Amino acid sequence: MNYAEIKYYDIANGPGVRTSLFVSGCTHKCSECFNSIAWSFDYGERFTEDVCKKIYKSCEPEYITGLTVLGGEPFEPENQGALLPFLGGFRAMYPDKSVWIFSGYTFEQITGKEKARCTTELSGEMLSYADVLVDGRFEKDKKDLTLRFRGSSNQRLIDVQKTLSSGEIVLWSDDLATDSRH
Ligand code: SF4
Repeated sequence: MNYAEIKYYDIANGPGVRTSLFVSGCTHKCSECFNSIAWSFDYGERFTEDVCKKIYKSCEPEYITGLTVLGGEPFEPENQGALLPFLGGFRAMYPDKSVWIFSGYTFEQITGKEKARCTTELSGEMLSYADVLVDGRFEKDKKDLTLRFRGSSNQRLIDVQKTLSSGEIVLWSDDLATDSRH
């Protein structure tokens, strides 16, 4: 897998201060995509063991709320093999920090309820490491600059853990002052 960018101290892609990993490769090709440079799977740098370690290390301080993975498209099958152990490792290391994933695929597609390119034997497990999934393609006709953490109104901020345990879509809410996993 290649990645396009890592943003440290990111406050735009999830609550609090985060490390955000922008992976390379996306087949959605949304009109007016904010990051079309990362559509190619060959764009950017190789996601090596050293890069993983650097990201883990960056999340060590207490004031870092968590990790965000976006792109590009994290759930393209080409990216799942590298992201699954990376996210699993993060979860084991930082059980109280949050993981957000942005995807152009929907929750239903990632979990296999609706078949799509992203539906693989890894996609469900990869999703299970997330606290919040921001799902759905960017639709320019539904673009709304007032929305928090999403670009168009079709996209949902899904509380992954509550949704997986209840079997029904539960939207994320930041009514509580913290978004910690517990
Ligand atoms: S899913 Fe995201 S990265 Fe991919 S084309 Fe759409 S807006 Fe761009």
